[in-house]
Amino acid sequence: MHKDVERILLSERTIQQRLDALAQELTDHYRCVGGELTALVLLHGSLLFAADLLRCIPIPLQLECLRVSSYHGGTESSGSVLFPPSWTPSFAERHLLVLDDILDTGRTLHAVCAQLQQLSAPPRTIKTCVLLRKNRPRSKPIDADFVGFDIGDAFVVGYGLDYRERYRNLPYVAVLKPEAIA
Ligand code: 5GP
Ligand code: MG
Repeated sequence: MHKDVERILLSERTIQQRLDALAQELTDHYRCVGGELTALVLLHGSLLFAADLLRCIPIPLQLECLRVSSYHGGTESSGSVLFPPSWTPSFAERHLLVLDDILDTGRTLHAVCAQLQQLSAPPRTIKTCVLLRKNRPRSKPIDADFVGFDIGDAFVVGYGLDYRERYRNLPYVAVLKPEAIA
């Protein structure tokens, strides 16, 4: 275990087992609506989650990435979501699945989904999938359609999630020692 980690919340094995089941849920859903999807991966936090999840989905899919940031280096969501000004994806007629690492205040997913719906040629459907859903009140009226794990309201790192760009490569999801968040 990493020296800065207080406790492991989700082990590598627990995560992989849940991702197998989640991939099956997604496969079943997208087979029902046409057999294809476009995965929109919100960077950087969802990178490891998406890589492992999408490898378990055997139907044709397209992959798109979007860099968003709402924390700007702290441990609380700032509420602002930054989009690249020249981002012009083509999702017309596609079934879009937005993948994010964690649903916390809901501001990120809410802002991303609102922006996607306003595209001149919007996707046919928009669904959301998160690895983690925090048990806390949301600032925005949004829930995820597909969820890996429900967790408490602690700040977590690992498996893609960072604290000041560290700990993303931990293979598990963990809570840091208070002294590591100084
Ligand atoms: P929201 O906009 O829902 O408040 O937060 C979503 C984003 O905030 C996530 O994509 C993630 O980048 C960041 N975030 C929220 N909670 C946590 C957490 O517990 N740990 C880390 N590392 N990032 C978090
Ligand atoms: Mg994120």
